[in-house]
Amino acid sequence: MRRISLVVVVLLLIIVGVVATIVHWGGHKNVVYIFPGVTGPSQPTTPPVRALPTSWENYAKGSSSRLAVLLTDVDSDWLGIAHGLKAIGIPFVITRAVSSALKHRVVLVYPLISGKVLDPDALRALANHPQQGGTLIGVNVLGGLNKVFGFDEAVAAHNHYEIRFDGSQRITAEFSDPRESTIRIASPTNAAAGGGAYSYSNPRTSPIAHFEDGTAAITMQSYVSGRAYAIGVDIGHLLLKGYNNREENIARSYVDEFEPSLDVLLRLIRNIYLEGENSAVTLGTVPFGRSLAVALTHDIDYTRSIENALVYGKLEKSQGVPATYFVQTKYVRDWNDDVFFNAHGVECMKALDASGFEIASHSVSHSRVFSKFPLGKGDETYPQYVPFVKDAKITKDGTVLGELRVSKFLIEHFLPGRIVDSFRPGHLQNPYSLPGSLVATGYRYSSSVTANNSLTHLPFQLNDNRETRAEAKMYEFPLTVEDEKPPKMIQRLPEAIDLARKISRYGGAFIILIHPDVLAEKFEFEREFIPAVKDFAWFGSIRDFGNWWSARDQIGVDVTASGNDRLVLLTVPKGISGLAVQVPPSFRFVSADPASVRVSVKEGMVVIKDAPGDLALRFRAKD
Ligand SMILES: [Zn+2]
Repeated sequence: MRRISLVVVVLLLIIVGVVATIVHWGGHKNVVYIFPGVTGPSQPTTPPVRALPTSWENYAKGSSSRLAVLLTDVDSDWLGIAHGLKAIGIPFVITRAVSSALKHRVVLVYPLISGKVLDPDALRALANHPQQGGTLIGVNVLGGLNKVFGFDEAVAAHNHYEIRFDGSQRITAEFSDPRESTIRIASPTNAAAGGGAYSYSNPRTSPIAHFEDGTAAITMQSYVSGRAYAIGVDIGHLLLKGYNNREENIARSYVDEFEPSLDVLLRLIRNIYLEGENSAVTLGTVPFGRSLAVALTHDIDYTRSIENALVYGKLEKSQGVPATYFVQTKYVRDWNDDVFFNAHGVECMKALDASGFEIASHSVSHSRVFSKFPLGKGDETYPQYVPFVKDAKITKDGTVLGELRVSKFLIEHFLPGRIVDSFRPGHLQNPYSLPGSLVATGYRYSSSVTANNSLTHLPFQLNDNRETRAEAKMYEFPLTVEDEKPPKMIQRLPEAIDLARKISRYGGAFIILIHPDVLAEKFEFEREFIPAVKDFAWFGSIRDFGNWWSARDQIGVDVTASGNDRLVLLTVPKGISGLAVQVPPSFRFVSADPASVRVSVKEGMVVIKDAPGDLALRFRAKD
């Protein structure tokens, strides 16, 4: 009897517990924080549809001073090449016509050279180019011009995973860090998943780079003044792997480390361009010609963080640096945490905004399974949209569009006149639909992946559905350093400064994530880090950097020569401050047109304080 009654009591307790849980969490009234009278957004979002492929003809305009990309197969990963060249700042045109390409001194033939894609006349004309003083860069040189490039055979080898550069050559000498002198092109455990690679047998001169088995990966054949480089890796394919966050374990680390594999390839192409085109003018990668672009970012995804954020804000204000606060609009109480996007949270957010910081979105639910959310209909509104995180694996009623549009609406509602431009998902969860959904909901900048996973320390343009044929009007600012991996962040300060210096050697970006959940050692890190890099770094919010980067991305650079005069024409569709124009050492600055444009002249560089639109820079070339 006693035992039975005990069982009954236990059962009753369980039932009471379950009922209490249902009452507590079940109804929206209990889990949703209601701001009286606030509903929205009022306008629906048209869900993104699969974008049409981007046409190479969008990149077909420009003068012969630019690098020419001779596209031998339209159905290739040329979009990776285009976005990579833009990121590193090399002006280029894409053409399908050999005769047009050969008007340029430096021609990159992509994705392959062979008798299948080029007729005998075209091959003959290309063969002539290095002999006439031009530079030919061939990707996958598979036949027809082997002799010109100075090797016997292209040997297919689908198991290569590394390229090792010969640092004794002039164009590769700068790759002095171990992670530069050796780069990854595929995963060592799954090399076959890489883009395929060719090695070049019996090279006439010492190759620029080898694969890990000692075979030639990049060869160089010299002519009287011209050069022919053969690259055995589909660099467009590799670039897109990084940019589309599909690196498949190519990267040597996930976060916090130096992983410049893509950057090294782009810098190599830039060096070849600078060597082959004596009027080569490129665009700097950091505002105002500084060496490093730093963005301090904070994810507010925890109750205490919203108040702590104000302490970080004070520090940043006292040091005179901007920052971005990614705010989770947490109006739903769930497994993750209590509500903190409430009247008090909004007051804290307003204070951050009033101090001049960028307020960005960190989603509504901060779900660990955001990447598996359905797209949604685009009609999600506050307070009806209630994504409910049940546990680490289950979130109910969340949609990608709901997370983006409702969080944006709420922040903008409480910060009248402000526009939310930037987004970062919780746990860097990255649904394939994210780039298109960000565009559809009115965002402009994303910080949703790590730099290491992207194989680059430069920002880049995203592609629709994280695929290879259609670009999205969205820029990514990948995360360099985070605060949660052990040991404590302050103990990682020397490494972080060292990493910043490495990346600053070629003008990369340094995006820092600090959760304001604790002050202590994370706060100390920030207080120490800022002065340690301030003498060579530019600081901006994701929005500042994004505005600058997206304006720079549209700029055309064309150089004409007449006698010793060099005229650099800059097509500037969108105004930009602090554009750095890198010029050959022989260029001496004469004047800017219009004359009202203020510039500062540095070694090998002219920094344009404000470029409101198209302008010209006059130089004189030293004899
Ligand atoms: Zn977060």
